[in-house]
Amino acid sequence: MDFPILNTTAYGHPLVYLDNAATTQKPRQVIDTLTNYYLTLNSNIHRGAHYLAEQATEQYEAVRPQVCQFVNARQSCEIVFTRGTTESINLVASSFGQRFLGQGDEVIVSGMEHHSNIVPWQLACERAGASLRVIPFSDEGVLDLEAYRQLFTPHTRIVACNHVSNTLGTVNPVKQITEIAHLHGVPVLIDGAQAVAHMAVDVQEIGCDFYCFSGHKMYAPMGVGVMYGREEILNQLPPYQGGGEMIKTVTFERTTYNELPFRFEAGTPSVGDVLGLGAAIDFMQQQGIENIGKHEEELLEYATQRLSAIPGIRIYGTAPHKVGVISFLLGGAHPYDVGTLLDKLGIAVRTGHHCTQPIMDRYGIPGTVRASFACYTRTSDIDALADALVRIAPMLL
Ligand code: PLP
Repeated sequence: MDFPILNTTAYGHPLVYLDNAATTQKPRQVIDTLTNYYLTLNSNIHRGAHYLAEQATEQYEAVRPQVCQFVNARQSCEIVFTRGTTESINLVASSFGQRFLGQGDEVIVSGMEHHSNIVPWQLACERAGASLRVIPFSDEGVLDLEAYRQLFTPHTRIVACNHVSNTLGTVNPVKQITEIAHLHGVPVLIDGAQAVAHMAVDVQEIGCDFYCFSGHKMYAPMGVGVMYGREEILNQLPPYQGGGEMIKTVTFERTTYNELPFRFEAGTPSVGDVLGLGAAIDFMQQQGIENIGKHEEELLEYATQRLSAIPGIRIYGTAPHKVGVISFLLGGAHPYDVGTLLDKLGIAVRTGHHCTQPIMDRYGIPGTVRASFACYTRTSDIDALADALVRIAPMLL
């Protein structure tokens, strides 16, 4: 494993990077893929009748079946490249909303969503005169499935829920959530932003209708993401953005649209980043996704033990099934102060509401400090965090 940036020295300390839920660092293969793309391949794809354009198109289109296999979609046309999870969800909320949401309709979201899986639905609801209904969760950070069942009415049009909470680390029972929705004939979108780097994802096994994720949280470059959609449902949706590539014919009177997946990929995509996504999938598969998950599970157990033993620490999110994310507060100290002091010791964590203000409201807190792990995190990183917390606690408590 070669992650050059991890050799950084921060304020005279070796960098301990524990902000992986925000973005992971990139392995050498991914960086090399990007560099090689711009050194040897850069060209606009699909319509070029020259060597570079053909090569770039071929390599770009080769990543689509790779992603299809990575999430076990049925066919490559169900894989749409976007800029990230946020754009993927906005695409679905906008197109699905336009086609299927009307006055008095309802959209179910969970209480532990990232703002990216709340606001696009609010915008769609505002346009349609529809409203949101929210699945509550327990103090441990577990969704209340009984309450979820009760939220369905004849007006429910879609369920949007994350696979893994970026703040609490909870792995949600997305298969069961989908099954319950399908009993009511309601489609389901899963926000997989925090899942894909930690576990094997099988969209057919989950049964969901849409699955969205970002490359940059799974060792790929920023600027690329994926919207998986079942072919039958994608074929019912109007285009999201208009422009090049998504059309078949254009006259001033009328435009006809391209087939899947190109109908949803307007304009020049981030070709190099898509190739980087392919390299990141190769990297993860070489490491073994199960191995990565197991390693992070061990780290989570170790970190939970070490942090729980520090006087004054409270951990938020203690669900039985979690990924390597620990949100906590140290006594009454403001999370930002904790984060700033850790930073001066070379430890990178995230502080604040993590784009999940409703979670903070649920607990009545302003934010948390969040440490999150990746395949390259070591127990020595956890030790550095725990030791630093012990060291700074007297300054804050
Ligand atoms: N959903 C979840 C659960 C996330 O954690 C994030 C990012 O932190 C997003 C959506 C948004 O991802 P992006 O900013 O890559 O679009």
